[in-house]
Amino acid sequence: MKTVLITGAAGFLGSHLCDRFIKEGYKVIGMDNLITGNLKNIEHLFKLKEFEFYHHDVSKYVHVPGKLDYILHFASPASPIDYLKIPIQTLKVGSLGTHNLLGLAKAKNATIMVASTSEIYGDPLVHPQTEDYWGNVNTVGPRGVYDEAKRFQESITMAYHRFHGIDTKIVRIFNTYGPRMRLNDGRVLPAFIGQALRGEDLTVFGDGSQTRSFCYVDDLVEGIYRLLLSDCHDPVNIGNPDEITIKEFAEEIIKLTGTSQKVIYQDLPVNDPKQRKPDITKAKALLGWEPKVSRAEGLKITYEYFKSLPKEELYKSEHKEFDDYIRK
Ligand code: UDP
Repeated sequence: MKTVLITGAAGFLGSHLCDRFIKEGYKVIGMDNLITGNLKNIEHLFKLKEFEFYHHDVSKYVHVPGKLDYILHFASPASPIDYLKIPIQTLKVGSLGTHNLLGLAKAKNATIMVASTSEIYGDPLVHPQTEDYWGNVNTVGPRGVYDEAKRFQESITMAYHRFHGIDTKIVRIFNTYGPRMRLNDGRVLPAFIGQALRGEDLTVFGDGSQTRSFCYVDDLVEGIYRLLLSDCHDPVNIGNPDEITIKEFAEEIIKLTGTSQKVIYQDLPVNDPKQRKPDITKAKALLGWEPKVSRAEGLKITYEYFKSLPKEELYKSEHKEFDDYIRK
């Protein structure tokens, strides 16, 4: 039985990866410091003997006894509000955390995949974004802590590959959604659905002409699984190229939820990328992968998930004190 260590296991993506690797017959060791993760996302796995959980912060030395075949480093805050609330931890998990896990991969002779992001392209001047575009990032802006940690993560990962011969993979993840997203992390999809469920107006930032391209989580996990088992060491974009403006997206959510509320406009956050869409030519060619779930299908499943949460979850604000600051 192969063993995989998944960091950020209690998070949105990490928990779906745990499920997938359990399903594929792996022994899964989940690790999380629970700063943004939630044990509810993986509590169904605790009864399995193939699953183990370590409550640990990977920016500190990581010890795992026994053999390890794979490491998936998916621990990181991942919403613009989180970068403001916990900027140092965001920097540390992407830099020190990655360094520790590369060291572990070297010691165990394990294959390691690191979760990179479309944020390394910053506010992109090339559209759609191809892997060979180097990006347009403000190092000292509010998102810089995430963007630069992830850029460093890619560099150190390639250095370990080239210098130590470690088997490394870099996945550049574009906006992804699905069940287990945090309802109150400020990201656009849970924000809109939460507002609709509370009977509030939907807050579009700026004029809503900025674009995003949303990938359903199952499609992302499939792409990650294929990339991990491939022999590709260069970064690969995994995302859904179906691009939409945020204003249109708000209208879709209004239709989906049947809310009688309207769209209201607020200031655009600092350095908010104006457009984002993955070029997935490489993933198609190398992995035979492309997304299968349409936004209509994926949003329906995600809406059902948010509706099924206890009502009090809807009213927990995680970030009121940062609401204005992010847009200054
Ligand atoms: N956004 C919005 N209203 C909200 C939350 C976000 O209009 O209540 C916008 C945000 O300004 C950005 C897009 O939606 O243009 C996606 O934001 P998110 O925080 O989900 O992630 P990002 O793709 O910016 O990392």
